[in-house]
Formats: sequence, C-alpha cells, structure tokens
Amino acid sequence: MKHAPGTTLISNGRLVDGIGGPPVADAAVIVAEGRIVYAGRKDAAPAVPPDARSIDARGGTIMPGLIEAHFHPTYFNVAKLEDLDIKYPVEYVTLLAAHNARLALECGYTAARSGGSLFNIDVWLKRAIENDVVSGPRLAASGREICGVGGLMDWNPDFRKIGMEGLVLLVNGPDEARAAVRKLVKDGVEWVKTYPTGDAAAPDTNDHHTLCMTFDEMHACVATAHNHGLKVTGHCRATEGIKNALRAGYDTLEHGTFMDDEALDLLLTRNTPVVPALYFEKVSVERGPEFGLPQPVIDGHQETLEAGAESARRILQHGGRLGMGGDYGFAWNPHGDYAKELSFFADYVGLSPLQVITCATRTGAEIMGRAHELGTLETGKLADVLVVDGDVIADIRALEDRRFIAVMQNGIVRSGSAAAEH
Ligand SMILES: [Zn+2]
Repeated sequence: MKHAPGTTLISNGRLVDGIGGPPVADAAVIVAEGRIVYAGRKDAAPAVPPDARSIDARGGTIMPGLIEAHFHPTYFNVAKLEDLDIKYPVEYVTLLAAHNARLALECGYTAARSGGSLFNIDVWLKRAIENDVVSGPRLAASGREICGVGGLMDWNPDFRKIGMEGLVLLVNGPDEARAAVRKLVKDGVEWVKTYPTGDAAAPDTNDHHTLCMTFDEMHACVATAHNHGLKVTGHCRATEGIKNALRAGYDTLEHGTFMDDEALDLLLTRNTPVVPALYFEKVSVERGPEFGLPQPVIDGHQETLEAGAESARRILQHGGRLGMGGDYGFAWNPHGDYAKELSFFADYVGLSPLQVITCATRTGAEIMGRAHELGTLETGKLADVLVVDGDVIADIRALEDRRFIAVMQNGIVRSGSAAAEH
C-alpha cells in the first residue's frame, strides 16, 4: 500500500491515542512518509518542515483508524442465509465485496479481520487493497469457513446436490478437519474460521446451545493451523463449545455468548480475545418481524443478546479483551452500519466510550496480530488515523454518523471532508 510522501501535521483536536489513557487536549499528530513521528501535546511537538501539509481537526478528535474484527466482505446485505452462497456467481460477489470494502474504509475502518468469505474472495481482495487496485481496510483473510456435516452452516439439502462448497468446508472427524485446514493453507488465508456451535438463526437442529464440531475436530484444526503459522477462531455460543475452543487452543472466540464461571476462568487464563458481535442480535430482535424472521429465531436472538451482553461485561471487568466487530451484511444489519456496534456497547452493554474505542482500535490490532504497527497513535506506527469532527468521548455517535474530516491510511487521506483537498 502506498503512503503519503512528505510530512503532514494534524492539529487543533483532542488526541484519543487508542492506548486507553485520558484524551490529550490541544494535541498534534505528525506523520512523515506514512508513519507517525509524533502524537501528543501540541506545545511539545517538534517543528515540521515549511512545506508540510496541514489538517485542521476543528476542535474534534484525532484517533486511530477503527478496526472491524469480524468483517464479512462477501455478505451482500442478504435477506436469507441461503443467499450467501447461491444467489449470485462468484464473479459478481467479488465486485460486491470490493464495494463493501470501500464502504468500510469510508466508515472509518482502516483495517479489518475477515470472519469468513465466499470462496477465496477475501484473500484476493486483501491483495488488491495492498496493491492499491481497490481501496478498503487492510485485511486479514479467512477464506472459507469450516463446520461439521449437518451443522449450522450445512443448510443446502442433499437433493440439490450443490453442497456448501462456496462458503464452507464440511468435515466429519479430525482427519477431514486437518484436510480442510490444509486446503485453506494453500488458499492463502491467515485465519481459520470454524463453527464449534450453532446459533439462534437455526432453532430446529442447530440452535445456540448445540455443538457443530467435536473437540477432536477443533483440536485438529488448531494443531494443523498453528503448524503452518495460521490462527484459528470460531463461532462460539454454547457453553461447552466455548470451553472446547479454549481447551483446543483457539486464538480468538467469536461471540463467546453463554459463558459460565469455568469458561470465563479458562478465557482469562489464556487471555483470549472475544469479538461479541452483539449489535446483530439487537437489530435482529428489533427488525426481525419486518424481515419475516420466525418468532423462535427472534426469541433466540433475545436470549443471545442478554447472555452475550452479560458475558462481555464480565470479560472486560475481569481484565479480558474484547474486539469490536459485527455480522454486517444482512438486510436488517447492512454494511455501513459498523460503528453502530460501538454506540451499542456504550449504551446497552455499559462500556465507557473510551473503553469501546480502545477495544475497536488497540485490541483490534492485537487480534489481527499487527499491534506493532496498527491500533494506536504512537511514534513509529503506520499513520492510519481518523480525524473526527466532534468529541467522540462525549458523543460516540459521531463515528456512526461518519463525521469525518479525514480517514487516513499510511498518511493518505482516503475519505472525509479533507479528502478533496489532499
Ligand atoms: Zn460472522
């Protein structure tokens, strides 16, 4: 990815650096050759060259670019689960994914970890973004997901003879789990996304208390992935599925919904980050009737919402780590709404805006395995910076409202009101 040449001075704003400390009033951030060379009080900042570009934060906020930790670039605002893999051919979904990536960047998300993709689209989307072919968040790719046969993601009936090939690798037993991960290694993914448990979306045979993979299958995934330098995550709702994932050595958990004390202890001992992705549950309850979701599905989402919020609170209270991300890409939870997750965590779950932003920046970078170069505004890091026209600590909605002066990657202003000037 190219970077902005020369020096840029961002000033006249409060610095929220992503590390989690109190904001710094009247701050300056200096970017040189795409990297941060200073972030702190303006009166202590070094001089910049006379030809430096200048961005006026207008009394707003200077903060790290947001990181979406559970991004499905190939989910194209579908109204039905089965549309995810059979409505359009891969060629068209690839174009839709590029559109979604651009939108995410315009929403202030300068990096994202994929939560699974149709075929290998996210692997190649990542490459296109890195090579400046299209614009979007820096990606960590997952490719196809892994699920047990008959599990949550195995929904096409056998008489159609189409399997689930585009979206999921279906496995029976540890040997097939190993084979699936090996296939993904060759595909070029960085994360292996698995389905240890079901979900409220499938109340008949794979609800949120159902297991969709065995411990042995999960452990085989982890051993194979780690051998090849890949990381593993999983859709974990049911309590036993959470414990299986933690004992198998998962690198992160998606959702982590129904956690008992033992599960929380295991999680905290391993310091495994969790991406609750909870706004989806709330919006599924609120807008489900409008989109024809059956009542048992809506009831399941309500149960998930309450348990998930309680687990998220406990994880953070006990010093655990949360990433911010969501299953955006459904008709009732469309792409572009990503930062509603952040307002939701402040309003409904009860985190402070500063905690939410730290989760959405620093922890996101830790989850991506790129904390050394992303997620906070510190000297030496890549200049992925958000300049917000508003005080995000006083009003976190400024993020979902996209009140952006600048969305920067490597110091390049990609979006926001200053984009036209740079
Ligand atoms: Zn997901």
